[in-house]
Amino acid sequence: MIHNKSIILLSGGLDSLVCAGLCHEKYNIELALTFDYGQKSLQNEINASKKICKHYNIKNHKVIKLDWLKDITASAIVSEKPLPKGVVSDKSLESVWVPNRNGLFLNIAAAFADSDNYSHIIIGANREEAKAFPDNSDIFIRRLNAAFEYSTRVKPKVLTPLIKYDKNDIVRVALENSVPLELAYSCYDSKKEHCGECESCIRFIKALENNNDTYYKKLIFKK
Ligand SMILES: [Zn+2]
Repeated sequence: MIHNKSIILLSGGLDSLVCAGLCHEKYNIELALTFDYGQKSLQNEINASKKICKHYNIKNHKVIKLDWLKDITASAIVSEKPLPKGVVSDKSLESVWVPNRNGLFLNIAAAFADSDNYSHIIIGANREEAKAFPDNSDIFIRRLNAAFEYSTRVKPKVLTPLIKYDKNDIVRVALENSVPLELAYSCYDSKKEHCGECESCIRFIKALENNNDTYYKKLIFKK
């Protein structure tokens, strides 16, 4: 097996951008996968992912269509339902859950890995989102790695550089490692600029504030 040829799951948001920043030197990321599951922010995610690929010299970027997924979820990320604005709570997190999303994405990435000898799959699963989303948890990733020992020939390893981090930690390591945070698009909405009010924007803003950042807060959120 060829080592250090990796796939990254790229939504273009804070977590996947920081993963690219932390892993691009060591893990030779050759393929980025962005998923189209009918989310409101799709076009912004694709644009941000393209910028991140360019910045980190990731040559191959594919957008994978999963257009049936929006039909089986009530998540406000994809449906006509309005996004919860101005609040961060367990309830607001629940309203943006998409069933087994990371489970699906990682299995699809494992198929790519198996077809072309990729040794690692990088994903921005983290402690903060694991509280509400079970497919972000460390135990899930460990079980999935065990499953890939049986479901693939190449046996790719899922790498989770952020698994022990919450959003404050993620912004802190981004700043420490000079990750250009302005490349991220982390908003759930479909507007051109970050809305500053959705679940994802609020968590990002709070993490910037907790790290005493004013530069990126102004640049990304115009405040
Ligand atoms: Zn937003």
